[in-house]
Amino acid sequence: MFCPYCRYPDSRVVDSRTTDDGLAIRRRRQCPDCGRRFSTTETASLNVIKRSGVVEPFSREKIVSGVRKACQGRPVTDSDLAVLAQRVEETVRLSGAAQIEANDIGLAILQPLRELDEVAYLRFASVYQGFDSLDDFEAAITLLRVEHEARVKDADAASAGVAGSPAGSAE
Ligand SMILES: [Zn+2]
Repeated sequence: MFCPYCRYPDSRVVDSRTTDDGLAIRRRRQCPDCGRRFSTTETASLNVIKRSGVVEPFSREKIVSGVRKACQGRPVTDSDLAVLAQRVEETVRLSGAAQIEANDIGLAILQPLRELDEVAYLRFASVYQGFDSLDDFEAAITLLRVEHEARVKDADAASAGVAGSPAGSAE
C-alpha cells in the first residue's frame, strides 16, 4: 500500500504482532522515502451483504444487539450473548467466503439461540422468518418438541449432549 503521508508506493515492515484475541495482525511500517511510520491491521475479511445491497464488515456487536431484543426478560446474560455471537462468527467463517448474505447470518443465529433460550428463539425466528399466523408459531413449537424428544434419546445414546437442555422423561 501507499505511504499515507507521501503516497510512496512501497513500505517496509518494522514490527509485526498478533493482537491479544488472535484475530488480527498489526504491523508497524516505515516509508523508505519520507521515513514516517504508520500501522496496518490485517484480519480475515468477512463482509455482510444486507438486503438493501449495502456491504458492511461483519460485527459481533450487531449480532448481540439483534439477539438481545429477542432476549428481553429472559435469563440470558451478556456473556451468553458474547458466546453466541462467537459461535455465529465461527459458523459463517466456516464457509470460507469473504462475503456472506445477511440472511445466512440470521440462519446461523437460530441454532445457538435455540440452545440458549427457546422463548428468545421463537421471538427471533418469528421476526426473522416472518411468522404471520398462529400456525407458524405452532409449527415452530411442534418442531422444538420433536427435537426435544430426539435430544433426550441422543443424550441416552451418547453423553455428548447439548449443554443446558432440560431434563425430559426418557422412555
Ligand atoms: Zn512516505
